Amino acid sequence: MKVFKFGGASAASIERINHIPKILKPYSEEKLLVVISAMGKTTNALEKVLQSFYEGKKEEALLLFNAVKQSHLQTAKYLLVTHYNEAEDRLSNFFTEVEWLLHDKPSKSFDYYYDQIVCIGELLSTTILSAFLNQEGAANEWIDVRDIFRTDDNFRDANIDWAVTEKSVAEKLLPLFEKQNLVITQGFIASTDENESTTLGREGSDYSAAVFAAMLSAESQTIWKDVEGFMNADPKEFPEAVVIPELNYEEVIEMAYYGAQVIHPKTIKPLRNHGIPLYVKSFLDPSLPGTLIHEKYVRNLPPIFVLKKNQVLLHLQSRDFSFVGEKPVARLYEILSQLKIKPNLMQTGAVNLMICVDEREDKLEKLAGAIAELFDLNVEKGLTLLTIRHGDERNLNELTKGRRILLKQQTKETAQVLVV
Ligand code: ASP
Ligand code: MG
Repeated sequence: MKVFKFGGASAASIERINHIPKILKPYSEEKLLVVISAMGKTTNALEKVLQSFYEGKKEEALLLFNAVKQSHLQTAKYLLVTHYNEAEDRLSNFFTEVEWLLHDKPSKSFDYYYDQIVCIGELLSTTILSAFLNQEGAANEWIDVRDIFRTDDNFRDANIDWAVTEKSVAEKLLPLFEKQNLVITQGFIASTDENESTTLGREGSDYSAAVFAAMLSAESQTIWKDVEGFMNADPKEFPEAVVIPELNYEEVIEMAYYGAQVIHPKTIKPLRNHGIPLYVKSFLDPSLPGTLIHEKYVRNLPPIFVLKKNQVLLHLQSRDFSFVGEKPVARLYEILSQLKIKPNLMQTGAVNLMICVDEREDKLEKLAGAIAELFDLNVEKGLTLLTIRHGDERNLNELTKGRRILLKQQTKETAQVLVV
């Protein structure tokens, strides 16, 4: 058994979707679970639908949703010749599900509605792709992952109930492989025990695939991407970026932690615990070797650069120049965890504390309010956090040339600077 994951970029256009059957062809004799994200920027578009809906702008929400609907119908009509009917029923059920909800007045939490609306992206993409693959001779079974992945109701960042999910994998997913070698399902989404949809966090499909890989004891997981493999920097920011052929699990966890967008941070743990290798490969050119991520320690890595934009620095100062004691700091951690804010960098001094966090307006306001009860607060926005692993002073100087450094932290392997 192998697990493949195709991201939004692999299904972003007709031309790209046409690649997928070609990629799957060499594996037709093997059992293969394929996990797919929403097409292109669908998730972002659905977030806008939700925004309007939650602001009470029903007509606008319906209009925005209609655009998502039409673009999927258009894709379906274009791709599906003999198998259009197979997809149509299911598609219209999903459309109705959302439209019905959009006619309601929002009475529950934003995060709840987020998951009910945004989950549609994956359901639409997999419906179209499953029919398309059937049409192209890659006979497959489609399954709604919400019937398998059980989570708590921590909407937008739901936690998988491992035991229940494992049972469903055995009872509902495995039997499908008796019918076909290929099963198509969704990443990113799941459901509570009350059948409410949940999501696992943006870009969570990698993680979904890893959970499946672990539960199926897969021999490997492959993430098909629009880059040649795992690179030492984002090629959009660093044109000289190179592919790293081999990486240790730990290095990837570190990179994801520092903000590398290549793989969802939660992905590695289940794979590592089960010793399942992860391949990152180019769907545009599958003949390229890509990157192998596994247990083996890898020497002589190139310097790895991670750039995190839209950062905010919070300067906290104790009011009466007393030390920043344990109690206020403990309280601060409590506030951060309540608001689900992960500090990206933190530095404590005698009477002050600096915290760098992602710029998220909704959370920042609440955070600032809560902090102001404990400390004097100063906020600086529009910053960039640079992280260099396995680099040297020269890399650091080059990267920060002409920029003002607000905060710097360095360990043997990792240097981090927050710059304007
Ligand atoms: N479609 C979701 C997102 O864009 C999940 C994913 O792509 O992994 O975040
Ligand atoms: Mg994606």
